[in-house]
Amino acid sequence: MHSTMMQFPLTLTHIFERAGQLFGASEIVSRLPDKSLHRYRYRDFHERARALGGALQAAGLQTGDRVATLMWNHYAHLEAYFGIPCAGGVLHTLNLRLHADDIGYIANHAGDRFLIVDDALLPLYEKFRHLVKFERVFVVPLTGQPVPAGYESYEDFIRGNAVMQTPALDERAAAGMCYTSGTTGRPKGVVYSHRALVLHSMACAMGDTLGLKQSDSLCPVVPMFHVNAWGLPFTGVMVGCKLVLPGPHLDAVSLLDLYQAEAVTFTAGVPTIWMGILQALEKAPAQWKLTPGMRMVVGGAAAPESMIRAFDRFNLNVLHAWGMTETTPLGTTAHIKHALKNLPVEDQYAYRRKQGVPAPFVEVRAMTDEGNAPRDGVTMGELQVRGPWVAAGYYNLDGEDDKWTADGWFRTGDVATIDAEGYVRITDRTKDLIKSGGEWISSLEVENALIGHPAVQEAAVIGIAHPKWDERPLAVIVCKSGKSVTSAELHAYLTPQFAKFWLPDDYSFVMEIPRTSTGKMLKSKLREQFRDWQWS
Ligand code: ADP
Repeated sequence: MHSTMMQFPLTLTHIFERAGQLFGASEIVSRLPDKSLHRYRYRDFHERARALGGALQAAGLQTGDRVATLMWNHYAHLEAYFGIPCAGGVLHTLNLRLHADDIGYIANHAGDRFLIVDDALLPLYEKFRHLVKFERVFVVPLTGQPVPAGYESYEDFIRGNAVMQTPALDERAAAGMCYTSGTTGRPKGVVYSHRALVLHSMACAMGDTLGLKQSDSLCPVVPMFHVNAWGLPFTGVMVGCKLVLPGPHLDAVSLLDLYQAEAVTFTAGVPTIWMGILQALEKAPAQWKLTPGMRMVVGGAAAPESMIRAFDRFNLNVLHAWGMTETTPLGTTAHIKHALKNLPVEDQYAYRRKQGVPAPFVEVRAMTDEGNAPRDGVTMGELQVRGPWVAAGYYNLDGEDDKWTADGWFRTGDVATIDAEGYVRITDRTKDLIKSGGEWISSLEVENALIGHPAVQEAAVIGIAHPKWDERPLAVIVCKSGKSVTSAELHAYLTPQFAKFWLPDDYSFVMEIPRTSTGKMLKSKLREQFRDWQWS
């Protein structure tokens, strides 16, 4: 028997048009390079995004053509988020933190036809323009300066009165693409379909995942050039909430000022951002009046338990989440299940610091050499996922097929345990695992414990060759400014928390830890730096 339901395509067009119809008065606030605030409403956004789509079509945009953006988080980027895919194009966000040569490589690899770029980022564009051949480049004037000679103004372009034709899109048509930031090799492109982005938005809005709703004031700190700011602009516009876009000002004080001024209720970013925010709050606890219970999604790297606890003291609610470019990115979120709320609050932290349970339609498993790891919270295996917003391949790339198992699961390259309640805990990346005398040590667990020490600002634990054990952990430490601690003190601090063989054999104190464009610790570089380490 067949259903009698209509075939209704799941496209961003629906989300966009509905938002224009229902939420015209919702606000969009953007911080500009000079720190002033640009404000307008969904009705302006809707009209301008349609104008962008129409102008692109008039410029020759065909369904499936890639349009690149090189922009911070602000209103014009949001216009691109909807104007491009709803006109049939593919939104390709270039990561402005990458090396200029890599950006050029990525734009060429994706075959981008047009570029929309912030005027403040023209110096970056000029570093790779000799590598690329965009047909046209549109400059968004945000700084108040005239658009430099030789460039077209985005404002003039969208003022051309071209009416957008809404193409009848297949839900499987490409809507966007992102490249992985290359922590583990050369950048790889992932193409998101309309369907994937729509289902992802629906899943993100659910109460037990991110729980976004119309009354929220949403501030994505995670850049719109990194995994679509975790899809938050799509989810936010779907629910019609206020959007607060921080532009290029991502320092703790600027963000805290913005949270207060715009009554932000929901924000999201990587742990390094939250560490800075926490320090600023601890330094001046009375300076900001934030929305009580403000939700802060932490992902991209592990949220240390000490950080979750510290924010609780400020009545700010950290939600730990895991995902990847290849998973759009929502994978797991660490809410406490209702039945676990009976646990003493102290014990609940053991769950909140895990990466959480998978969202509906995301299936996870941890695989060992012997097969599916038991769900005992202890056995580590490679985390594999599948679902309607999980990539099935990379864009135009040979030789990466081993990232998918024969039965269609995506191999994340993360190592994880899964417990009886289904909570996933990431213990490492495959490439960062430390194997000592045949046993695995989770560098991430030891790092997170070290971060809990009051003198430690940052910690990385890496495996270094060892004559007897093959590899042993070395802890690389950055102290908080004005604080110091000895190796012996750190060792004594860790001892009650871990099995003896997990404890680092040595500690090295440094000024900084190398990081990737998205703020993750670059352990490959660190391992190189410490290659000739002599055990004391
Ligand atoms: P890249 O692969 O270039 O670092 P992604 O942003 O796609 O770019 O990173 C995804 C990876 O980030 C995951 O595979 C995982 O290793 C790490 N990650 C993401 N969220 C978390 C988290 N909550 N805890 C630990 N690691 C995380």
